[in-house]
Amino acid sequence: MTLTLERGDLILNSNYIAGRWCEAADGATLTVSNPADMQLIAEVPDSSAEEARAAADAAHEAFAAWRATPAKRRGELLKRWHALVMAHQEDLGRLISLEQGKPLVEGQGEVLYAASYIEWFAEEAPRIAGEMIAAPVAGRRMLAVKEPVGVVAVITPWNFPAAMIARKIAPALAAGCTVVAKPAEDTPLTSLALVRLAEEAGIPAGVINIVCASRGRTPEVVDAWLEDARVRKISFTGSTPVGKHLARASADTLKKLSLELGGNAPFIVFKDADLDAAVEGLMAAKFRNGGQTCVCPNRVYVQDAVLGAFADKLAVRVAALRVGPASDPASQIGPMINTRAVDKILVHIDDALTQGARLLVGGERVRADLGPNYVSPTLLADVAPAARLCHEETFGPVVPLLRFEAEEEAVAASNATPFGLASYFYSESVSRIHRVADALEAGIVGINEGAVASEAAPFGGIKESGYGREGSVHGLDDYQHIKYLCQGNLR
Ligand code: NAP
Repeated sequence: MTLTLERGDLILNSNYIAGRWCEAADGATLTVSNPADMQLIAEVPDSSAEEARAAADAAHEAFAAWRATPAKRRGELLKRWHALVMAHQEDLGRLISLEQGKPLVEGQGEVLYAASYIEWFAEEAPRIAGEMIAAPVAGRRMLAVKEPVGVVAVITPWNFPAAMIARKIAPALAAGCTVVAKPAEDTPLTSLALVRLAEEAGIPAGVINIVCASRGRTPEVVDAWLEDARVRKISFTGSTPVGKHLARASADTLKKLSLELGGNAPFIVFKDADLDAAVEGLMAAKFRNGGQTCVCPNRVYVQDAVLGAFADKLAVRVAALRVGPASDPASQIGPMINTRAVDKILVHIDDALTQGARLLVGGERVRADLGPNYVSPTLLADVAPAARLCHEETFGPVVPLLRFEAEEEAVAASNATPFGLASYFYSESVSRIHRVADALEAGIVGINEGAVASEAAPFGGIKESGYGREGSVHGLDDYQHIKYLCQGNLR
């Protein structure tokens, strides 16, 4: 099966600035290829600071009219965008699979997930409200009103090319902000297609602007926004080192920041867990997108008494995973995003083996005929706590099993990381559930559940996994500031 789109015009090769589809001024381009077979899909502009400034100009110009557009109307436009995304779910899903590599069913699922944020914030827009404060002195009226922060720079990673950009642009627009966006070098096409549909939905020119850039030129583009005092907020999803850089570099203009950064999620299986449910939850959490998710379990702690039984059940499931390109509907694990990612995963596996781990399943590059970007789903037992697998994001289909005896030991090991995004545990004991949920240092805790993401829930981390929350009733807060109005001399 070949992955073709019904609407070929959803594969775009231009930036979108001030309502116009345009090239980079110097004509530079970057190539986007399919990680499954390295075949070229398209070329898009490799933009410079010039395009970044033009995008910021356009977003700044559009801001006054967009913030003055009634919130209900902004919500209606977002609903139209949502309807178009849903109408093109198949094409968008194929495009995600083409440029990012995830299996077709996951590409389709990501479109639904992305659309759910657009719909959610379409519905949140008309509910924006402030507060009337009971004045502590006579003759005063005191109000707190919510205002859009202004132009927002949106910077997104490659692993969820639709969902990451949708869950930033939708709340920004709902709040009344305008946007300049830069998708990841590896996956700009899905973002461009989403923006095309936003244009078709009637979202006015300048409200969303999108600028593509290669890894080499990205800092130039983003720096132009960092230096621009009119850009009032950065919403970033990506790695912790880049997040820290953005925090430092935006200090001069004191921008508001949302940082959704890396994770190092623990997954704890207690002896009183439903082991079948725990295996199911781990498979869902770990192998989604081939393990290339920020919330996927990186370290699996299993209590001694059930370690053997759990490992046996898990080994059967991991060994049965089908690896292959998205063009094969039977594929469950697609290619990694690039060869660098594969190399890192193999280095992590080797390091664990050197430190005494036992290989139960996988552990190698998959059949050469598939291409260079495939890694076999891997299960390792007796992994040493010092192994790199336990400290760095592996971002691949590798499960390291570690043993523990006491609950406190598992909680302490889980928290012994600078990251704090997701964590998971399985237990049937109510008192343990409350104790462990309280003790885990993470923004998200999955309790007897491996699939935690939802547009209705606040998604985000603590510690070096960042700050800010996306989705839920709190999702607009990061795109608004509160203005206090104090009226005196009331008679
Ligand atoms: P990344 O290297 O940090 O890149 C993310 C984005 O930042 C890309 O658009 C990238 O552009 C851009 N970027 C890179 N260097 C930059 C710089 N010096 N200045 C400004 N922008 C820069 O991360 P990634 O490898 O794409 O994504 C994987 C990471 O994202 C993992 O750590 C993962 O955990 C995290 N993630 C977090 C969440 C969450 O919600 N917390 C969700 C998904 C992923 P180029 O592509 O052009 O380099």
